[in-house]
Amino acid sequence: MILMDGKSYRDELLIEYKERIKELDITLAIIQVGNNDASNLYIKNKIKYCNDVGIDVKYYNIDGSEKDVIDLINKLNNDDKITGIILQSPTPNMDYDMLAEHIDYRKDVDGFSKENIYKLYMNEESIIPCTVKGIIKILDHYNIEISGSNICIIGRGNIVGKPLSLALTNRNATVTLCHSKTKNLKEITKKSDIIISAVGKANIITKSMVKDGFVGIDVGINRIDGKLVGDFDFDNIKDKASYITPVPGGIGPMTIAMIIDNLIEMSIKKEN
Ligand code: NAP
Repeated sequence: MILMDGKSYRDELLIEYKERIKELDITLAIIQVGNNDASNLYIKNKIKYCNDVGIDVKYYNIDGSEKDVIDLINKLNNDDKITGIILQSPTPNMDYDMLAEHIDYRKDVDGFSKENIYKLYMNEESIIPCTVKGIIKILDHYNIEISGSNICIIGRGNIVGKPLSLALTNRNATVTLCHSKTKNLKEITKKSDIIISAVGKANIITKSMVKDGFVGIDVGINRIDGKLVGDFDFDNIKDKASYITPVPGGIGPMTIAMIIDNLIEMSIKKEN
C-alpha cells in the first residue's frame, strides 16, 4: 500500500508556485460575512499560504446587508488589481448562492459560478473547484490511470461529488455517482478501481466493500472524540488498497494548494 501524501505534495507545489508567482502580480480578495470560528480558521490558513508564496491578500469583513456585499463584489470585479475573489461560506443570514453569483466568473477562484460549471459540463477550459482539482492532481501525481477506470464517487454534493463526476468523465473515466438513496452501494464499490468518498460520515466505507488493489481517495472530514478522521474505516481497509489518502494529510492540503493554482491560472489568462 502506498500512502498518497497530500501534505508533502502540497509543499512541493508551493515551492514551484512561489517561483512562478515572482513573475506575476496576484491579489486575492477574501470576503467574510460576520464571524464564525471554522471560517476564521480557514481564512487564516488561506491568507498564510497565499502570503507565503507571494500573493497579496485583501480581507474584508462585512457586518452590513446583502446589498453591502454585492456592492463590494461589484467594486472588486471592476478593480484591475484584484485577480480573484473568494466569498467565504457560510454567510450567516444571507443567501450565499445569490451573493456568489455576483462574482465575475473570471475572478471566481472557487469555480462555482454558473459560467464555470457550464464550461466544466461542456468540457471546455474553466476554473475547476479546488477540491475537485486537488483530487485529480494527486491522482496524476501518483500516475494513477483515470481514463477507462471504473470510478465510484460517494456523495453528490455541489462542492465535491457532482463537479468531480463531470471532471472525471471529461478525463474518460466511467463514473458511478452514489448518494444516500443508492441501492447496493457495496456492489458498486466492490467493482470500482477507484473509490472517492465525499460524504462526511466516519466508517461509511468498510473492508468488505472494497476490492484488492483499489485506489482510495477520502475527502470526508469528521471529528470523532476530538480526532480528525475521514469516511474510510482506514485501519481496516488500508491493506487492501494499492494507493490511499490519509485524513488528515490527504485531500485537505491539496485543496488549499489549488486555490493558488487557480489564481496563477487566472492571472496568466488576464495578462494574455
Ligand atoms: P454534502 O453536500 O452534504 O454532500 C454529502 C453527500 O453524502 C450527499 O450527496 C448525501 O446524499 C451523501 N450521503 C449521506 N449519507 C450517505 C450514505 N449513508 N450513503 C451514501 N451517501 C450518503 O457534503 P459536501 O460539502 O460534499 O462534503 C462532504 C464531505 O467532504 C464533508 O465531510 C466535508 O467536510 C468534506 N470536504 C472536504 C474537503 C477537503 O478539502 N478535504 C472539501 C470539501 C468538503 P444525498 O444527496 O442523497 O443527501
